[in-house]
Amino acid sequence: MGGKSSEELKEIIRHEAMRLGFSHCGVARNDTLEELRPFYSDFIGRKGHAGLKYLETYFEKRLHPELVLEGTKSVIALMMNYFPQETIPEEDNFIISRYAYGNDYHVVMKNRMKELINFMKSAFGDLQVKAFADSGVVAEKAWAQRCGVGWQGKNTLIINKSAGSFYFIGIIYTDLELEPDTSETDHCGTCHNCVTACPTGALDTPYQLNIGRCISYLTIENREEIPGEIKNKFNNRIYGCDICQDVCPFNRLASPHSVAEFIPSESWRHLRKKDWLTLPEQDFNRIFRDSAIKRIGYQILKRNMP
Ligand code: SF4
Ligand code: SF4
Repeated sequence: MGGKSSEELKEIIRHEAMRLGFSHCGVARNDTLEELRPFYSDFIGRKGHAGLKYLETYFEKRLHPELVLEGTKSVIALMMNYFPQETIPEEDNFIISRYAYGNDYHVVMKNRMKELINFMKSAFGDLQVKAFADSGVVAEKAWAQRCGVGWQGKNTLIINKSAGSFYFIGIIYTDLELEPDTSETDHCGTCHNCVTACPTGALDTPYQLNIGRCISYLTIENREEIPGEIKNKFNNRIYGCDICQDVCPFNRLASPHSVAEFIPSESWRHLRKKDWLTLPEQDFNRIFRDSAIKRIGYQILKRNMP
């Protein structure tokens, strides 16, 4: 490492992460997340994870990064802004969550993190290093908070004090010894905006998402029929939900991203309700070829429509 201190190594990585388009980069020491075991156990015990089986399957791996990458010493959390310049009009339309406006973020994040890893290997030599974007094997939010890039708010999302929550999170495990940042603390205070705004009661217990009632889960992960009593509350949302972010005071600080891949494609940004309702399957496959929306498939998108 050329005699560089752990602080210097971290700053070199942070600088390169910013150059690659990440907005925030923090570091934590791999002290394991063992203290979260009772919370996760209770959550799974009462089936709070609904159909998200990976929370159960990867229980131990989520608490212990070294079970995923042997010798992990440091965890790096990266954030990438996806807040759009313009919101697609909601009048006479179905609503798509902002995070799905552009190309599939899994691919975009992985490509950028791969570049960061290549940089780290060329700068620091032979390292053990592994990147994750929205991976069930990593407790991303817990690490993001420990890395100091935000705290997990009452809406259970990671919120950055000066930039809000419209961010994708990427996590890197490495055997490189890096100087840790200070873990972030909770700044929700007496605010309850997200809890009262959630139309389905999914945040009735603040800080604990009732996954089975969350529109985001129900429209994207869930493969079953959606009970009419909940679906009536979607208010035209057919892919994801941003309500608990829209009402968060910290998102008044959101500024538009500058990631070309996240700009919505001309091929669908002008669709309105009647176009969605009559969209042929072959057009869906073509239009959303590079989008996260294609992951749910045509039939599930149709199911989500009123
Ligand atoms: S995403 Fe929507 S449904 Fe889910 S917790 Fe937030 S406001 Fe509620
Ligand atoms: S809306 Fe208020 S309570 Fe909810 S996450 Fe934001 S600051 Fe916290």
